[in-house]
Amino acid sequence: MATAVRPPLLHQVAGSDKASLLCKPNQRVSVRRRSFTTRASSNPGGANVSIPKQWYNLVADLPVKPPPPLHPQTHQPLNPSDLAPLFPDELIRQEVTEERFIDIPEEVAEVYKLWRPTPLIRARRLEKLLGTPAKIYYKYEGTSPAGSHKPNTAVPQAWYNAVAGVKNVVTETGAGQWGSALSFASSLFGLNCEVWQVRASYDQKPYRRLMMETWGARVHPSPSSVTESGRKILEGDPASPGSLGIAISEAVEVAATSADTKYCLGSVLNHVLLHQTVIGEECLEQLAAIGDAPDVVIGCTGGGSNFGGLVFPFMREKLAGRMSPAFKAVEPAACPTLTKGVYAYDFGDTAGLTPLMKMHTLGHGFVPDPIHAGGLRYHGMAPLISHVYELGFMEAIAIQQTECFDAALKFARTEGIIPAPEPTHAIAAAIREALECKRTGEKKVILMAMCGHGHFDLASYEKYLRGDMVDLSHSDEKLREALAAVPKV
Ligand SMILES: *Cc1c(COP(=O)(O)O)cnc(C)c1O
Repeated sequence: MATAVRPPLLHQVAGSDKASLLCKPNQRVSVRRRSFTTRASSNPGGANVSIPKQWYNLVADLPVKPPPPLHPQTHQPLNPSDLAPLFPDELIRQEVTEERFIDIPEEVAEVYKLWRPTPLIRARRLEKLLGTPAKIYYKYEGTSPAGSHKPNTAVPQAWYNAVAGVKNVVTETGAGQWGSALSFASSLFGLNCEVWQVRASYDQKPYRRLMMETWGARVHPSPSSVTESGRKILEGDPASPGSLGIAISEAVEVAATSADTKYCLGSVLNHVLLHQTVIGEECLEQLAAIGDAPDVVIGCTGGGSNFGGLVFPFMREKLAGRMSPAFKAVEPAACPTLTKGVYAYDFGDTAGLTPLMKMHTLGHGFVPDPIHAGGLRYHGMAPLISHVYELGFMEAIAIQQTECFDAALKFARTEGIIPAPEPTHAIAAAIREALECKRTGEKKVILMAMCGHGHFDLASYEKYLRGDMVDLSHSDEKLREALAAVPKV
């Protein structure tokens, strides 16, 4: 099975000092001479960049700070030490810090070199197919060993746990992207890894499970009979397709009740979005090197980490008045967290074991229909994304899955890369944007987060190609019920 997938248009070019010429007033860009060549897209031409040395924390630059998480029982602001059973100290510090930049540890940077810098590619053939005057760029994270952006945070999370002396890490996974990323990262640092995978995906996508097992992890379908939380769900519905919220409950329960075991989360939390900003920092350099700036930045949102990772560095630049792109989050119509949810304190998991977070939520009991974009089936949204959405710094739209797969085929047949079902939402929105430019004649620069490939999601393509895929909408009644269960804080 291929672990490193390169888009067909890439060529390798020798490293240069170009990046040092870039003007980014509030960040020093240092160029390291490396013994290997720097990767760049042949398409924009000559955009050589180095791997960023720091992650960026948007909280430092927000005019209004996000509301704090609350203790699930007392409803008082959480004390960072309350998180100690779940996370190592350094990750807790990163979760609450208002420091602007955090150094990327040398050991983590060494691993990033396996696939970073990732390519920024101009989708010229897609532009031509659409007949649009717009430019479409995509930042492609599918070149990582796990095939998505997830290793950007899995590697530092595993590393900080390993140096803190932790032996076992547990987590949930939806489509299997996060589980495989953490399995990969755990294997590098000698950690045991145990994963609860949402039942619907466990059944639909056996190859993701095999990837996790190949990297040495143990995988349970969720809900499982291994945990109290899982058993409770199975009692109510033995055929439950599961949800990320349920799988989180199971993993958190295990971490909270075992001394040498910590929990890792693949999205939503501040430190996860922090690690993902390596995408946006790199992309800023790549675009500056070719003298372009986006008018709109688009990404799909499940928990918000690939979107935040690309967008937050651009948001900093916008807040500082150096560029003015619009930011657009795209969610599935079957799980419309930002567009149909409420902004309220809610649990991150189904059983109510996690701290209460102020976020856009469909209710922690909401179980979305089993759409193919398993990674977007989450009832909540990152508190940091929710906060900036409330501040009016970004927009959100919801799109049905057949429009997304139609966009995916257009993309695959022009750009060559077969996208994961999740970023097909970003592609569909980018295509809408490009077609609007065709109507108005506007020459917008569209930047899109292409956060993973779909090589393990071909069953969903099969369904679409056969004409068997249908649009699934949330039912209003189910939504009302779930929203009623949001705790009154
Ligand atoms: C996990 C995942 C997502 C959804 O998570 P975010 O935190 O919103 O990024 C989207 N796309 C891919 C490829 C994923 O693996």
